[in-house]
Amino acid sequence: MQTMPPHVYLDHAATTPVSESVLAAMMPYFCDYYGNPSAIHTLGAASRDAVENARESVASALNARPEEIVFTSGGTEADNTAIRGAAFAGAGRHLLCSAVEHHAVLETMEALATRCGYALDVVPVDRDGLVDPDEVARRIRPDTALVSIMHANNEVGSVQPIGEIGTICRARGVLFHTDAVQTFGKLPIDVRSMGIDLLSVSGHKLYGPKGVGALYVRRGVKLERYQDGGEQERGRRAGTLNVPGIVGLGRAAEDAVAEMPAEAERLRRLRDTLIADVESRIDGARLSGPRACRLPGNAHFCIEGVQGESVLLALDGAGIYASAGSACSAGSVEPSHVLAAMGVARDLARGAIRLTMGRATTEDVVATVVQALSAAVRDIRRLA
Ligand code: PLP
Repeated sequence: MQTMPPHVYLDHAATTPVSESVLAAMMPYFCDYYGNPSAIHTLGAASRDAVENARESVASALNARPEEIVFTSGGTEADNTAIRGAAFAGAGRHLLCSAVEHHAVLETMEALATRCGYALDVVPVDRDGLVDPDEVARRIRPDTALVSIMHANNEVGSVQPIGEIGTICRARGVLFHTDAVQTFGKLPIDVRSMGIDLLSVSGHKLYGPKGVGALYVRRGVKLERYQDGGEQERGRRAGTLNVPGIVGLGRAAEDAVAEMPAEAERLRRLRDTLIADVESRIDGARLSGPRACRLPGNAHFCIEGVQGESVLLALDGAGIYASAGSACSAGSVEPSHVLAAMGVARDLARGAIRLTMGRATTEDVVATVVQALSAAVRDIRRLA
């Protein structure tokens, strides 16, 4: 395999590198402590202990109990397990979600509507991509089985008022799920005070490995099993556990919680510098999403008169890796459903650029990127 040339990585919302601390924690569980955690022998017990330690770390990061954590193969599986599990376990036939959910939530909801006849209500967002909790309250019905509103949007970084929405759902006796894939380990989350019943997490957004995640299931919440098989995870998720991945997720959660206040503040400052510099140097660069209720490391712009993909290719040529929005829709010609829901015109939405920062981002990186981005936009406009 070729070694990567030096580059600047500004696509942390798509994925992050596995940190050295996480990798070191995982390594023993590939070849030395390789036992199946369900086995009764000593090797199995070692794996089981490691899984239980990781469960405690993930639970503690959410103010949950360890037995309320179910390990999954990632955020997508956690979302599917929560939504299908809650829909099939309850009597209600009505589902609510926002228009800016990740495809893992939206497609699952739409599949339940088209294949199983559930009534799906999609709550609109304002121009900043924010959901109005009162609108959620107005749409809850006596037969609502589940409300699912993401914590922060993966494209434009809008942070939803999930504490308020959770409180409304709890008061109305409706289950509340939130996809916290973009916020776990980055913003404080307290499932108890926020009225959350179900919450999805993914390892690879916080310097953990890909292919591992977790679902918080509040004690007492009934979920239909999403995948049949063995009795792992107290019968809630069949399949042999991904022990090294789970250990990695546990360590990533511990590290993220330890650094959170300082790192969030550092990223907020870098983000605000980046936004101010892009706005002052690039004519027609419009910030998407809110300025205040925004993920610390997220800057997203729609730039007039350019195609986002052309800008990304120019940046790539300069060794800068960024994104047009959701990694999952890379290559798709359709403008993002998130920008459409925010009322961004189709033409403008084609000029979408998402720059997401992380541990390796410094002030020098921000200056380099602003310089390269303004040169790329100038060149593309000149050619057009
Ligand atoms: N939900 C959100 C908000 C995401 O950003 C992502 C990944 O981009 C997912 C769910 C899916 O997570 P995973 O890649 O672990 O399946």
